Amino acid sequence: MGERLGEGEATGVTPSPSLSPKGERRKSKKEYEKKDYDEQRVSESMAAIVLSKLNKHYGSLHHAVKDVDLSIADREFVALVGPSGCGKSTTLRMIAGLEDISSGEIRIGERVVNHLPPRDRDVAMVFQNYALYQHMSVYDNLAFGLRNKKMPERDIKAAIDRAAEMLGLHDLLKRRPRQLSGGQQQRVALGRCIVRNPLVFLFDEPLSNLDAKLRAQMRIEIKRLHAQLPTTSVFVTHDQVEAMTLGDRVVVMRDGRVQQAGTPLVVYNNPVNRFVAGFIGAPAMNFLDVTLAKEGDALVARSPAVKLAVTEPSRRALEAWQGKPVILGVRPEHLALATDGPLSRTFAAKVEVVEQLGSEILLETRVGEARVTVARVPPETQVAAGDQVRLSVQPGRLHFFDPESEAVIMT
Ligand code: ADP
Repeated sequence: MGERLGEGEATGVTPSPSLSPKGERRKSKKEYEKKDYDEQRVSESMAAIVLSKLNKHYGSLHHAVKDVDLSIADREFVALVGPSGCGKSTTLRMIAGLEDISSGEIRIGERVVNHLPPRDRDVAMVFQNYALYQHMSVYDNLAFGLRNKKMPERDIKAAIDRAAEMLGLHDLLKRRPRQLSGGQQQRVALGRCIVRNPLVFLFDEPLSNLDAKLRAQMRIEIKRLHAQLPTTSVFVTHDQVEAMTLGDRVVVMRDGRVQQAGTPLVVYNNPVNRFVAGFIGAPAMNFLDVTLAKEGDALVARSPAVKLAVTEPSRRALEAWQGKPVILGVRPEHLALATDGPLSRTFAAKVEVVEQLGSEILLETRVGEARVTVARVPPETQVAAGDQVRLSVQPGRLHFFDPESEAVIMT
């Protein structure tokens, strides 16, 4: 790959010292300070990103990003999440300038950057493959981009000290990358971003190569880093837990389109459609095909296997759906084994699999034709595969979706 975000930038795009513009006249220190530092300071207050009707076509057949509108506030941390191939990396790479846009507009701060080369966008990108220079010490890896920018060594040292302090790298500065663990290498890659003091951080699945424990640790480090150094950040991941834990806002994409953008709690509590409802949350939301019907005064969601009373506030919105099929959604953690409780809030299930996690039990059950997962069952509960049980639903925790459009039926 020959794409570069800037000279010796903090990216995992394999940096090559030979690409540095050797013939370029060295800027005097004064010139450096005037141009780069002042520009940086001015731009620091204006790091909002605005994507307007952004589209990307790969050739004539593949429409990878479709009419994406998204405003990211200055210093906001936004997580772009969705299944593989939904267009999140392409969106990120268009912000970075590594991919041309087909139509639309990208603003970073005050500037439309559509046609600006990556190096002029003042963004730093961390990739899954952090690709450090193996023949250089950690210190020199961190210094590389700044030396290319002709920053004075004294200022480079100050920038590295600051980054090393934040990331706990001081003891590693003399080591070569191969003497570091994966997590330490990823921290150095983050350090390369920090020393550049960019307007925007872009993260492209940076934790995917790490094992589960390290991923969880690095998540916390990135979160801590953002608190210490609030910089507008866009973080691409296919992992909804990563997105939920890191993002001030989570942007869920599917098939090139933004499905929903909201705080983690909003996308969890009020998913706009079945896709978001099923994608956010683990274990995933259960879905049952039901029909809405009146029984006396009550409105019930009915299938051969369940009959649940629809309570306010859903009830009012659902009156109009009487006699029609809808999709009922309920999260595993909003179900419980029922010892008692009104029949209108419980239904029968057959336990198929018991997963004892120590802190909780997960149950896989069968409700008529449907598979239904139950989470947070107390770990001491006596329950075995084959048991017939009753499940109860927490009031107000039912979601309803239009089976045709899959949009939520607004309540
Ligand atoms: P994600 O990051 O969500 O996994 P990408 O943005 O990488 O998805 O890709 C979105 C879609 O565009 C995918 O279907 C992918 O195959 C396609 N795509 C990505 N890069 C190219 C390319 N250089 N040429 C053609 N198609 C591409």
